[in-house]
Amino acid sequence: LFSGYRNVNRFHYHRSKSKHLLLSRLFQPMNLREDRVVGVGRSNELTCKSQQLMIQAGLIHPANPGCFYYLPYTVRALEKLIRVIDEEMESIGSQKVNMPSLSSAELWKISERWQVMGKELFRLKDRHGMDYCLSPTHEEAVTHLIASYGSLSYKQLPVMLYQITRKFRDEPKPRFGLLRGREFYMKDMYTFDVSEEAAKETYNIVCESYSRIFDRLGLRFVKVEADTGSIGGKMSHEFQIPANIGEDRILMCLACRFAANVEKMESGGTDCPQCKGKLTGTKGIEVGHTFYLGTKYSHVFKASYHNAENKPVTAEMGCFGLGVTRILAASVEILSTEDDIRWPSLLAPYQVCIVPPKRGSKEDVTEGLSESLYDTLVDAAPQLRGEVILDDRSHLTVGKRLKDAKRLGYPYVIIAGKRILEDPPVFEVCCQNVGDTLFLTQEGVVDIL
Ligand code: ATP
Ligand code: MG
Ligand code: MG
Ligand code: MG
Repeated sequence: LFSGYRNVNRFHYHRSKSKHLLLSRLFQPMNLREDRVVGVGRSNELTCKSQQLMIQAGLIHPANPGCFYYLPYTVRALEKLIRVIDEEMESIGSQKVNMPSLSSAELWKISERWQVMGKELFRLKDRHGMDYCLSPTHEEAVTHLIASYGSLSYKQLPVMLYQITRKFRDEPKPRFGLLRGREFYMKDMYTFDVSEEAAKETYNIVCESYSRIFDRLGLRFVKVEADTGSIGGKMSHEFQIPANIGEDRILMCLACRFAANVEKMESGGTDCPQCKGKLTGTKGIEVGHTFYLGTKYSHVFKASYHNAENKPVTAEMGCFGLGVTRILAASVEILSTEDDIRWPSLLAPYQVCIVPPKRGSKEDVTEGLSESLYDTLVDAAPQLRGEVILDDRSHLTVGKRLKDAKRLGYPYVIIAGKRILEDPPVFEVCCQNVGDTLFLTQEGVVDIL
């Protein structure tokens, strides 16, 4: 069944009757009217590079403050990021679930966060007058879920559940596009263990998997000691991406590699608490946050397990968040130039864009070469299936289409330029993530890709 699924000819029902992905057939708007940049509601001015680039390139569109339409290219990048996260979670034995966003106030009253969360919680009533909120996080829900099954056996632990869903927070200052939304995707994971020791081991395993995710994306990050905030708990770290636009301030010791969020440092001192060396400060974007919770939630929700003596014991918990849409925007923020989006290679919505000659130009006599390169590429490199775009807007010059392609950040843009007339024909390959331009025959292109 699975191999049958893979062999489906995805173009069979496509009305363009082309077996190529044609840019002209996609909804990929790049012509946003200036007066439409701002969404509905309060001002949503362009406050940072990623927001500006993503709106102007037709990747996101403002809906109302802190809420965006994710356009098709963004959804592709998002799904790729989710795939990377899923792979890493699977490798540490975590299972994916999906919990309701609509959450009963009852749960939040048990943990006392119905009050603690204050105005950040989106609250609503159903038709029976019952209180609900749109979940900003799911400690209450998941602990309630686990407790509902009575006691687990110690042999079943650790239980590691995660989800990648929309979260809702009525942020006082939604801004910077996807970096601080009021509705955004978070990957949140909750772990249940038999003891503090076991929970800390799980904690380290999850932190390592988070480091692997950022390494695979090629994003430089700093893991810092952090405050536990309204989530609570005993130990906590943040994964921070150093960036000027970052809203957190982090302090690092270059001598012993100690690093902390200033929120965590008493009196915000300038000396390293470990080696007394000098701390240097920088701004960071918080892309992940991990907590060892102890029994804060498992105690009040009575989430327990049975130990080897068959006695019920309160489970030790951890929770682990990744800002999925924030990671996407942070990547764009730190990798892009002023005019052109750059993605981590793994996340680029499409890997390759091929630009055939302008219709009626000298080079146009080489009709079919771009299409044949397309076919050869996809045959030779199955991982490129569905990843190659043909910019068939041949009424436009190659230069204009190249500019658009650079702006959208395909890792490889392949142009049928002047040298396509040589024998054998030579393509111009712009490797955008490394900033190189290569001149290669069809065989050469296949080789490097
Ligand atoms: P911040 O300090 O930026 O407000 P937080 O500490 O309130 O974030 P957590 O409760 O730790 O956030 O949530 C886990 C992760 O979810 C964060 O590390 C961050 O990456 C992401 N996140 C939190 N708030 C937002 C938001 N408003 N928009 C996008 N991502 C967010
Ligand atoms: Mg917050
Ligand atoms: Mg924070
Ligand atoms: Mg946090």
